[in-house]
Amino acid sequence: MKLPYAESYKIKMVETIKKSTREERERWIKEARYNLFNLRSDQVFIDLLTDSGTGAMSDKQWSEIMLGDESYAGASSYYKMKEAIKEICGFAYFLPTHQGRAAENVLFSVLVKDGDIVPGNSHFDTTKGHIEFRKATAVDCTIDQAFNTKNECPFKGNIDLNKLEEVLKNNPKEKIPFIVVTVTCNSSGGQPVSMQNLKDVKKLAGKYGIKVIFDSARFAENAYFIKKREKGYEDKTIREIVREMFSYADTMTMSCKKDAIVNMGGFIGFRDEELFKKAVVYNIMFEGYITYGGMSGRDMNALAQGLKEGTEFDYLESRIEQVAYLGKKLTDFGIPVILPYGGHAIFVDAKRFLPKVPKEEFPAQMLAIELYLESGVRGVEIGALMADRDPVTRENRFPELELMRMAIPRRVYTNNHMDYVAVTLANVYERRNEIKRGVKIIKEAPILRHFTVELDRI
Ligand SMILES: *Cc1c(COP(=O)(O)O)cnc(C)c1O
Repeated sequence: MKLPYAESYKIKMVETIKKSTREERERWIKEARYNLFNLRSDQVFIDLLTDSGTGAMSDKQWSEIMLGDESYAGASSYYKMKEAIKEICGFAYFLPTHQGRAAENVLFSVLVKDGDIVPGNSHFDTTKGHIEFRKATAVDCTIDQAFNTKNECPFKGNIDLNKLEEVLKNNPKEKIPFIVVTVTCNSSGGQPVSMQNLKDVKKLAGKYGIKVIFDSARFAENAYFIKKREKGYEDKTIREIVREMFSYADTMTMSCKKDAIVNMGGFIGFRDEELFKKAVVYNIMFEGYITYGGMSGRDMNALAQGLKEGTEFDYLESRIEQVAYLGKKLTDFGIPVILPYGGHAIFVDAKRFLPKVPKEEFPAQMLAIELYLESGVRGVEIGALMADRDPVTRENRFPELELMRMAIPRRVYTNNHMDYVAVTLANVYERRNEIKRGVKIIKEAPILRHFTVELDRI
């Protein structure tokens, strides 16, 4: 028999989590104004709000914390991080930043100006935010299959080369500072980009003389999918695949709170010394001196170690197979989820789950509330609430996909927790026809409203 996958680690330290009663949860969610971001973490039993910064560090990472060098300039921790980045990603120059969006802020301060156009594959919200904040426009060139939740295309994060070429052809070169490729593509459901597509994008960009930047928070998960799904890569190691992936990027940003398995941290990787030197000025201004840039020495040490652990096949296999394990359980219950299963999360199609709740009453948010009420599991809405209002008309925007995401923290929960989550959702699914109404907005901020919005049940 083929052996099943098993975690490539064992547990040395545990953290208690507590169940609650339905009455308590009814009270807490009401007090939280039906916004799950307002819940206290001890009111949650299993927390699938995000996989960002919520992973469990290893014994080796904790040892590295003790070895951190907190010198202001030239710390050994900086050099440890530099060597890990050179070895794993292949970039000669780098700047540490306190997290991913800070890397975007520094790099885009050099590259993006008013009126620019930045094509990419479903830009992450902070990436888009940093582009739009500079009065530039993000153009989504993701393949159409990404928007069909039932389509099982293996690389739904891919860029549509025709859409991309349209943008490159129809705009002056000076208006396009770079193309951004997000690996894996978070906004389209944690879907990977194929090596062929990375290669083709680089080639097309080269033809027009444009730079390619990777937004690489989940680069290792992307490499795992390439190994599993793309011909010619089955016998390559994750590290070899990662090196080849990055060979098609001129520059990169990384939120290390994802695949580098640290609670805080990020960086920018450069090949071009000139660009690096320009970015140094902004890094010093916004983040800190170039050899720590918003990070403690101990955190840089843990990050360097995390980059190594995060690119080991056995770890990635247990990580991604655990997500698929949950996905399969839900599919077996008949629950509509995005296929294929993403690398870091399962996305439930709320329109199909709660067809009776009108889109104006935020079905994905209602589903997240029901999931929480059922057993204390916290997911998050990725739908009309998050999509905000149109900046001009101030009307609600209703995106094609109305999703409830359950992101799985790295090395944190067991498959028993996944079973618990699956049965919780199945129980809600069983009474889905009784859920006919959703929520209405009481109070909202002008942008990024989902974090602070106040709601009430209808
Ligand atoms: C998380 C993330 C970011 C932003 O990183 P933070 O560390 O949260 O600031 C950018 N891009 C992608 C694809 C991400 O997943």
